[in-house]
Amino acid sequence: MAFKRMEGFVGSVPQGFIDSRVKICPLCGTTNPHWAIDQKMQLKMEGNLYLFQCERCKGILSSPVPDVTGYNNTILTTTGLLKRMSGKKNGVIYLRIFDAGSNDKMRSLVGKEFTLEEINQMGIEEKDSDSGSGGKYY
Ligand SMILES: [Zn+2]
Repeated sequence: MAFKRMEGFVGSVPQGFIDSRVKICPLCGTTNPHWAIDQKMQLKMEGNLYLFQCERCKGILSSPVPDVTGYNNTILTTTGLLKRMSGKKNGVIYLRIFDAGSNDKMRSLVGKEFTLEEINQMGIEEKDSDSGSGGKYY
């Protein structure tokens, strides 16, 4: 995988998304995750994935490309409809913990999916419990 900052027009959508929506890394609590991006092709109905890697802990979040680009905001698209049928809300962005990076206590969360809201909440809690004494997660 080759993570890099995506500057310029082509990368502006995912880079702008992660930089503006996830300002605190949910895994290590840094307020300057300086997200790098990679794209993962996969033959799944949810579409390809964007991978977002925190510069500090190397933890990785993932989200289906259509979620990030806003394509799933309507059920009029195939992937949007699929998302609705799988019990998710359209217009709500889900991020999966793809890799816990250097955060051993987050290892159990790998593969789990959270809403953008929950991800941000995790970041705030992680930042507050900076000592690493292990906060509560749900
Ligand atoms: Zn981090």
